[in-house]
Amino acid sequence: MEIKKVYADALTTLAKGTDAGIYKLNPERVEIVNCVRDVRRVLAECEKTGKSVTFKAGGTSLSGQTITDSVLMEIGPDYGKVEISLNGHLAKFPCGITGEEANRLLKPYGRKLGPSPASIKSARIGGIVANNSSGSGYGIIYNSYNTIQDMEILLADGTFLDTASSESRRNFMKTHVSLLERLMNFRLEILLNPDMQDRILSKYELKNTCGYGMNSFLDYSDPYDILMHLMVGSEGTLGFISSVTFETVPDEPLKASALIYFPSLMEASRAIGPLRQCKVSAAELMDRNALHAVEDEPGMPEILRALPDDAVALLIDTASNGEEELQIQFRDIEERLADVQTLYPVSFTTDPKLYATYWRVRNGLFTSAAGRRPRGTVSIIEDIAFRAHKFPLWTRHTPSGTSRFKRRTGVENGMEMVYFPACITRTMGASADYEDVDTRQVGEIGRLMREPGGLSRSSHLLRLGGRPQFLLSGTKCFRPSLSETGPAWSDRRL
Ligand SMILES: Cc1cc2nc3c(=O)[nH]c(=O)nc-3n(C[C@H](O)[C@H](O)[C@H](O)COP(=O)(O)OP(=O)(O)OC[C@H]3O[C@@H](n4cnc5c(N)ncnc54)[C@H](O)[C@@H]3O)c2cc1C
Repeated sequence: MEIKKVYADALTTLAKGTDAGIYKLNPERVEIVNCVRDVRRVLAECEKTGKSVTFKAGGTSLSGQTITDSVLMEIGPDYGKVEISLNGHLAKFPCGITGEEANRLLKPYGRKLGPSPASIKSARIGGIVANNSSGSGYGIIYNSYNTIQDMEILLADGTFLDTASSESRRNFMKTHVSLLERLMNFRLEILLNPDMQDRILSKYELKNTCGYGMNSFLDYSDPYDILMHLMVGSEGTLGFISSVTFETVPDEPLKASALIYFPSLMEASRAIGPLRQCKVSAAELMDRNALHAVEDEPGMPEILRALPDDAVALLIDTASNGEEELQIQFRDIEERLADVQTLYPVSFTTDPKLYATYWRVRNGLFTSAAGRRPRGTVSIIEDIAFRAHKFPLWTRHTPSGTSRFKRRTGVENGMEMVYFPACITRTMGASADYEDVDTRQVGEIGRLMREPGGLSRSSHLLRLGGRPQFLLSGTKCFRPSLSETGPAWSDRRL
């Protein structure tokens, strides 16, 4: 069967034009690209016809990032090739490969990707990096921003830049010197403005994929490094990411998890500080609604159904290279939690099957919770980042959240919130079901979350779903106009 490159029929555009978010637009046509030449061709055609183009990798975005009523450019299955070097410490992956496949290729080296979104089975390198994905493990330390080493980029004007090649950099300098100069001027502007510097530093101490990565201007002094790191989290608005070279992270072979049950959110919040002193890479909290959403999943402990109404569970993850080391980690965790009340003694599992079940269920929590929503409602997910010491304050505020939200927005039916904070990475997902959604309501949920202690929205904000949050988050001053950088980035067609 011939593999088509362009689809314009109603059925395929409907199917391919849908992503994991709640928003809907139907693309006029879908172009499948398998190489730089294909991307360049589509960009040039769109330039000629004045059409906008939106990129799609795995399509697992939740904030309307990959929907369009114009041209949708989908990365095809044959895009680019993989190069693994330095015994797995460096890995160049094409934009179309899934995170799971990348990790499968790295496994023989005992390495893995830093970013680990719960959607890693379907999410692809282009989307992972363009969304600055992280995930439960290591959160903001080993996210895309912090683990990229080089990138191949195609800008809207068709220019190709390989940041690993000095020849490519030299050629880019010849044609795009004004863009590089503007980036350096932005950097200077920020360096001369202590208020803005402080604001940027404080925003990026926590997880923050809210708009462009303005921390690039403070973290790097080389314009190519700034440019490459601005591409991270740019959600396809600055150019096309053709491939990414990652510094990989160790994948310790002995893994263990424990589901720890607490009588209340407040008690669980007391565990966060001690756990952050231990070798724990993830601590994912699930409130009672979240536990209800997964209690019928195969392999989940019977205990879940019998937990009291206020109980919550924390799923923690720890790993090591040796058995003895792992036992020391277990003891350390148990000792540090000795003063925190748990419903049952802490019990670790090293059984790979049970370990995989716990994390599969946790990673599927959003879909499980959404799957239980009443008919005719949609599910919205919201990420909020907060400082660890604000967490107890937030837990006091939480029980009243649902009713207060209903009162404020007038949404009465089928509205239920499910909270699943990632306590080590300091972010929280809250999912809520709505009957009718308007942007005011989407904004309201974020405002409500921020009230107890100035929580801030932390995820994927450049596209449709992020607009109300973007305006609420006070991010305006971080928008030096990138469109002033010249034709490569001024083209609003991306
Ligand atoms: C169940 C579920 C769980 C999730 N869990 C997490 C999580 O734990 N952490 C997290 O961060 N996110 C999470 N997400 C959100 C999303 O899955 C991730 O951000 C994911 O990395 C996106 O990858 P993707 O390949 O699906 O990208 P897509 O959705 O296809 O695209 C994402 C963005 O990148 C742009 N883009 C795609 N390819 C390119 C390219 N080659 N060049 C430039 N721009 C490009 C698109 O235009 C879009 O703006 C979750 C989503 C779901 C449905």
